[in-house]
Amino acid sequence: MKKMKSSPAGQACRVTVFGVVQGVGFRPFVYRLAHRHKLRGWVKNIGYGVSLHLEAEDSANLKARLQSFLSSLEAEKPPLALIESVKVEPASFVGFEDFRIIKSARGESFVFISPDIATCPSCLEEIQNPAERRYRYPFTNCTDCGPRYTIVQSLPYDRPRTTMADFTMCPDCRREYEDPLDRRYHAQPIACPRCGPELELKDTKTGKTLDRCLETAIALIRRGKILAIKGLGGFHLVCDPHNHRAVARLRCLKQRKTKPLALMARDVETVEKYAFLSEAEKKELISASRPIVLLKKRQDIPGIAPHLNEVGFMLPYTPLHHLLLEELGLVVATSSNQKDAPIAKDEKEGIASLADYILTHNRPIESRSDDSVLKVVAGKPLFLRRARGYVPFPQRVPSELRLPCQIMALGGELKDTISIYKNGYAITSQFLGDLDEYQNFLYFEETLNHLKRLFSFEPELLVCDLHPGFRTTHFAQKSGLPFFQVQHHFAHTLAVLLEHGFPPSSKVIGISLDGYGYGQDGGAWGGEFLLANYSSFTRVARLREVPLPGGDQAARQPWRMALAYLQDAFGAENNLPRVEALEKIDPRKKRQILRMMEAKVRSPLTSSCGRLFDAVSFLAGIAPVEVEFEAEAPMRLEALALASSSGHKPYPFSLTMDSCPWELSFVPTIRAIVRELDRGVSPATIAGRFHTTLAQAIAQVARQVSIEFGAKTAVLTGGVFLNRKLLEDTTARLEEAGLTVLRSVRYSPNDESISLGQLAYALARVKKEGFPR
Ligand SMILES: [Zn+2]
Ligand SMILES: [Zn+2]
Repeated sequence: MKKMKSSPAGQACRVTVFGVVQGVGFRPFVYRLAHRHKLRGWVKNIGYGVSLHLEAEDSANLKARLQSFLSSLEAEKPPLALIESVKVEPASFVGFEDFRIIKSARGESFVFISPDIATCPSCLEEIQNPAERRYRYPFTNCTDCGPRYTIVQSLPYDRPRTTMADFTMCPDCRREYEDPLDRRYHAQPIACPRCGPELELKDTKTGKTLDRCLETAIALIRRGKILAIKGLGGFHLVCDPHNHRAVARLRCLKQRKTKPLALMARDVETVEKYAFLSEAEKKELISASRPIVLLKKRQDIPGIAPHLNEVGFMLPYTPLHHLLLEELGLVVATSSNQKDAPIAKDEKEGIASLADYILTHNRPIESRSDDSVLKVVAGKPLFLRRARGYVPFPQRVPSELRLPCQIMALGGELKDTISIYKNGYAITSQFLGDLDEYQNFLYFEETLNHLKRLFSFEPELLVCDLHPGFRTTHFAQKSGLPFFQVQHHFAHTLAVLLEHGFPPSSKVIGISLDGYGYGQDGGAWGGEFLLANYSSFTRVARLREVPLPGGDQAARQPWRMALAYLQDAFGAENNLPRVEALEKIDPRKKRQILRMMEAKVRSPLTSSCGRLFDAVSFLAGIAPVEVEFEAEAPMRLEALALASSSGHKPYPFSLTMDSCPWELSFVPTIRAIVRELDRGVSPATIAGRFHTTLAQAIAQVARQVSIEFGAKTAVLTGGVFLNRKLLEDTTARLEEAGLTVLRSVRYSPNDESISLGQLAYALARVKKEGFPR
């Protein structure tokens, strides 16, 4: 590097930027910015950020330019860069002639990989401009946008280690790639019509390829055909949402009768035609991560999200989507998986049986990843599924918990994720699905190996669930590595603490409500109040236990839970009140279930809050006899409560504090609901009052725990808190009682967060007791 000979009067400084600024186009951005502000020196990657040396001719110039440089740094940073802090220190003047990006010494630094990023405005303009060489090119991208996590094979992040390796850059692309002032400087997936990936459209029946892929695909969708379209993390199944036959056929092929389907809309205006959109929701919808956002319906499209008052929308996130949606306006875009299998990333994974045509391309997907799904509650995201666009975003671990070792947490079983810990950061994988399905377990292993390669990660310690029968537990046992086991609801609580950087010194009230988790006593837990810090917990209160007639079957057939709650509330069989909703169940079946519970046969006890929702939803007459997907019955109840007026009076409930743990009982609630049903009160009112009751009950328990044990922070977690109404209502009541409320914002509160919580526990325990031998 050349240095200027003269000018000892010059001034220099060192700027360190901490945060997620690697692998997101930050150094080229800094380069362009330095040029613009006439600053010289260099930029390089360091352990947890970038380091800059900046110089100007004299101190006055440096001061003024630095100031505007720093404000541009924050205001114009690449879409996925996250600046945590900036440090400015004086440095000695060297006399650089220009500004350079310099290579960092390969050390123990932890290089982050960016999530996939939606097409940026500049690229979008290019594909719409007939004068550009990338006009209508479906694989246009730059350093600010394009595929990342889904195409990277290993480190360092360089074209030969991505699925773009086989595409040789043409001279034009090469020139852009090598020009530091170009928007495509070191954009690894850089491509153009001359040298990049190409589309292909195939008829699944005949195997024949069709010409004019884009135009033909658009015409086929308009004609009611179902297309499998390759995106970033896998294939979507796409059809016209207004064509009832197409939607019905899609549901039939996917074996989904009622599960909501996501929509992709051309733009915000199209979304607003069908749904209400707040500013906060709009912000998420148009963000570079482009999640599916659940929005309140304005104009319902039959068959898309039946029985629910919200519907999921996303905007196009690749040039291919933009080109299709420009013409089509609105399509169904649901992930193309066979029932209970992960999203397909390759045509060979059985897509032909799911679609009439396949619109594919020759850029392979390295890592499959579903669309992320969220809703906005109290202005902040609430994730139902965290995957594409967010993974593998790193999470800083509180300094008190950082350790010089590498740990891998395997999660639980349903809605699984993997979390890894290295060099002060935790990284959580994309949603992997339910691992009781063998194909999903293969996806788990596939992802585990991908994470190892991507982050040069070699675990020294594993963490898994307490459940002795989970595949993840067996995996830990067979690994030959030391491992810890963590109780499910405790892990739920810890995930939230880690995300918020909660200090290890204080205790919190972990309110962990979900369907099922293996308890310390081997029981089926799911309505838990834990007094917890990172290394231990006490189960201070729980929901009153009821039988789970038939075990897993009770979770699929809500009427079984309705019977269990009725029997608990009213006693013997001949005392049971007549409830309309139960009339549709065969009397012999009902009698059989009641006897089963009385005899305590195949009826383990559960404190599950999810099952309480099932029971109430069924009693109110809105749950199906057999659910198609988890939380279907509770979601319908929530939808009804949201649609009904607010300000519902709670039903009675009881809290017994002379037992250990304390018992929160909804026996009085069930009795009151039955009385209301008798009087012909509407299901919407019952749904509303039930939500109010639960929120009030939770707040009362939390207040008592706070008085008794001094904890001042409540953590709301578990899948039950995906319920907007319950989350808002409970939060308000807890805050009114003077408690600080924490909940997941960057992760889902459902079982996807288990692995992150497990990691937190392992860190705390190793800190306390040392590394296990
Ligand atoms: Zn771009
Ligand atoms: Zn090219």
